[in-house]
Amino acid sequence: MQRPEGLYCPPGDFYIDPWRPVQRAVITHAHADHARAGHGHYLAAAPAEGVLRARLGGITLQTLAYGERIVHHGVTVSLHPAGHVLGSAQVRLEHAGKVWVASGDYKVAPDPTCAAFEPVRCDVFITESTFGLPVYRWPDDRVIFGEINAWWQANAQAGRASVLSCYSFGKAQRLLAGVDASIGPVVVHGAVEPLNQAYRAAGVALPATHAVQEMDKVGLQRALVLAPPAASAGVWGRRFGDASHAFASGWMQLRGARRRGGYDRGFVLSDHADWPGLMGAIRATGAQRVIVTHGSVAVMVRYLGGLGLQAQAFETEYGDERAGQEDAA
Ligand SMILES: [Zn+2]
Ligand SMILES: [Zn+2]
Repeated sequence: MQRPEGLYCPPGDFYIDPWRPVQRAVITHAHADHARAGHGHYLAAAPAEGVLRARLGGITLQTLAYGERIVHHGVTVSLHPAGHVLGSAQVRLEHAGKVWVASGDYKVAPDPTCAAFEPVRCDVFITESTFGLPVYRWPDDRVIFGEINAWWQANAQAGRASVLSCYSFGKAQRLLAGVDASIGPVVVHGAVEPLNQAYRAAGVALPATHAVQEMDKVGLQRALVLAPPAASAGVWGRRFGDASHAFASGWMQLRGARRRGGYDRGFVLSDHADWPGLMGAIRATGAQRVIVTHGSVAVMVRYLGGLGLQAQAFETEYGDERAGQEDAA
């Protein structure tokens, strides 16, 4: 299954989220480290079509509804919700009586902007492990959104913009859907808006968003501003003057991460499963063999081995999300 181009299915002769150009690619979701340009043929879940096209343009794309099955070279292929971002899917492969499931990135916490994670029974489960350490335990989303709203409200009253750094695809839309937009106007960076449009076109309700040029000074002082970390830290972010700066990410649970990033506030909001979420998801598959990819691979492999499972690591070239690449953490 492991080849230099990516995760490979030998009987089906296709790859899952390959990092080098291949003829046939099954794509779990449209984050840049999973959905790369240059493949001959793409297969993805139907709700991913808009976001994939927003990022990759005119690709040759075939889509499947969640749960729909197709047979390719004797391999039954279906896609099931991963709860990570709009259109994210786990890939289920059935061949010669064996079922494999490749999770892609997933989360089990509720998210109004995408279909909820669905456990799929299998013999072999390929799981991500971005936050695969026992220290990662996410607070309830309602608590986090309460904190974000209170921070925004206090800043608006003090006449300060609230600049909230986040990844432009997935996290930004989840924030938009979760905040109390009656507090003030919402401004988004130019990298965020095309994805908002793809979400709206897919039927996800998001509040009105504005480009920074549309706003006067008074409006900006009450605004919530969503932008990728590099933009808010650079020239683009300086126009907000005496703003309060925050970052929404699972990494904010690490002590020191907020301070090192130079943020006034950190909100622990992740689009990946935390440790209990990973363990619950792995258990729910019933798989006896678990293959661990990008993240805390060694720790997870050791822990799962201790539970009596057959566990192993897979090397991948998915992004080191800690390095601030755009894959949503
Ligand atoms: Zn990833
Ligand atoms: Zn992702």
